[in-house]
Amino acid sequence: MRYFFKKSRHRIVNFDRILQEYKEANLFMFMPLKRASRGRTKGGKGSSGVVQCTNCGQTVPKDKAKKVTSKLNLVEHTLAKELRAQGAYIASPTVLKHYCISCAIHFKILKIRSADNRRKRGKLR
Ligand SMILES: [Zn+2]
Repeated sequence: MRYFFKKSRHRIVNFDRILQEYKEANLFMFMPLKRASRGRTKGGKGSSGVVQCTNCGQTVPKDKAKKVTSKLNLVEHTLAKELRAQGAYIASPTVLKHYCISCAIHFKILKIRSADNRRKRGKLR
């Protein structure tokens, strides 16, 4: 316990050791991180590129933005079915969209999670 509040002479803080002591002491009330991944898929790397939100235009870090791919239908479904029966090829280009967190929540790509669920990794959708 004393380790956390003792002022160290050295400026370098061993983050892994602090986290380990938090786990051992069951001090999860005072966790240093809100989310296990800090809301990003960055990991240990320094920086990543920046993308713009498709909806609002906000600049978001590439590893934080939510990427959504969808297919664009150029022809109406019933008409496409008829054309395809006659042997026509109908292209359906894929559309890539990046959303900022607030837009992803607005479009229900993400959901607000409880404090326990926030620390779980894996697929969100
Ligand atoms: Zn946005």
